[in-house]
Amino acid sequence: MTLPEPRPDLGLRDGYHSPQVDVPVRLNTNESPLPPPPGWSARLAEEVGSIEWNRYPDRQAGELRAALAAFHGVRVEQVFCANGSNEVLQCLCLAYGGPGRRVATFEPTYALHAHIAHLAVTGVVQGRRRDDFSLDLGQVADVVAAHQPVITFLCSPNNPTGLAEDPASVRAVLDLAPGLVVVDEAYGQFADWSALSLVEDTRPLVVTRTFSKTWSMAAARLGYLVGPAEVVANLERVALPYHLDAFKQLAGRLALEFTGEMEERVGLIVRERQRILAAMGPMAVTAWPSQSNFVLFRPESRKGGEVWAALLERGVLIRDTSSWPGLSGCLRVTVGTPEENDAFIDALREAV
Ligand SMILES: *Cc1c(COP(=O)(O)O)cnc(C)c1O
Repeated sequence: MTLPEPRPDLGLRDGYHSPQVDVPVRLNTNESPLPPPPGWSARLAEEVGSIEWNRYPDRQAGELRAALAAFHGVRVEQVFCANGSNEVLQCLCLAYGGPGRRVATFEPTYALHAHIAHLAVTGVVQGRRRDDFSLDLGQVADVVAAHQPVITFLCSPNNPTGLAEDPASVRAVLDLAPGLVVVDEAYGQFADWSALSLVEDTRPLVVTRTFSKTWSMAAARLGYLVGPAEVVANLERVALPYHLDAFKQLAGRLALEFTGEMEERVGLIVRERQRILAAMGPMAVTAWPSQSNFVLFRPESRKGGEVWAALLERGVLIRDTSSWPGLSGCLRVTVGTPEENDAFIDALREAV
């Protein structure tokens, strides 16, 4: 007997998964370097006893969504939650994609946009960004006119480049794109501007956010989007019943009681990001300005892969993006604690 072959098209692009190596300084996956505030852990421990574990959770995630709606000043019907923003993206592709339909991405950008669409049996058309990684609106116009995508993905700030879109480009893409425009704001809190201000029930725009980065809750797997109520209703049609467990709903709702602490962390990361960029200034590297919690840079004296390995030898793990399309020779470092950043800066100085 033999086991059946799976779909032949399941693979994720080679080199995407970041190795989980046990080293002292881990700056490779854009997580928060700090645990959530102690007050949050205490509140969670207090309330977890009230979960009715024998019952299915609130299918509507009513309290969590109401808290998020209040946080963003929108209606609860405009908020959709899922297991990480990746699952939000998957629901978008399941609801709006499918055979014969296409999504558009502008590369280099977050690899999961194309991958998730692909798994949802949706075609992917990949436009290019300019050499400085900014969005080329002429290219956007050509791609969306030629392929009529059901979803046009933007990522702001863009992973892995760190650049944010300005309001004018997002508005321009909204005017050009025939379908939904999805702005992935996994790093939105680190940027000066958010597309959330453009969300309206009659505008085909959704903004996705996550608890994985700013909120120090990557382990919880919680993400959401804010968008037109009609889109949210369609996403609920493709989400599995009770997909959001009771513990996660509680954890997310309680996190919103600690927004002050979270904003302090964002402030710290932004200051540390500027310090890393300043330290790179005199080194033999090209670094791109970032509005995120990571910095993309290209060593000019040695190959990217060699510098990545030299950092690892010194106990510092960053992301090797040097083989990714459009990112030849580039590396990405996540902003860590001040001590971790010192370790990175010292190791980089030696390595280049
Ligand atoms: C990290 C990241 C996400 C987060 O995914 P989760 O599933 O919420 O952990 C989404 N989009 C981008 C661009 C990211 O970098």
